[in-house]
Amino acid sequence: METRSCKKCKKTIPETTRIDAVYCSAKCGWSYRNEKKRQYLAEKKKIHQPFTENIRIINDLFRRGITSVSHGTLKEIGFNTDLYTRLGRTDPINHTTEFIFDDFSLTLHNTKIYNIKKLR
Ligand SMILES: [Zn+2]
Repeated sequence: METRSCKKCKKTIPETTRIDAVYCSAKCGWSYRNEKKRQYLAEKKKIHQPFTENIRIINDLFRRGITSVSHGTLKEIGFNTDLYTRLGRTDPINHTTEFIFDDFSLTLHNTKIYNIKKLR
């Protein structure tokens, strides 16, 4: 029988283990899976971070009673206008486009001013 090496520590898997075993021990098994899960969560957090930051900025403006803000100001305070949860309504006659960010909508007027509205 050919020797098998542990997916985690690379040591030889004892022959007494199951024929399909990929780890030398239960400890190596959960250690490997925990590490994978940690990497996955860190990656997920990195992807979500800019969205979270956008929502934090909108929430902060709204709490301070600011319901209208220019595109330039949003950019200055670190808002990424390319990241939104989904596109809302567009009105070609009034030149408005609505962007949805979780609980908030930002309606862009003539590519200059955003109106902030709480949805829920
Ligand atoms: Zn091992």
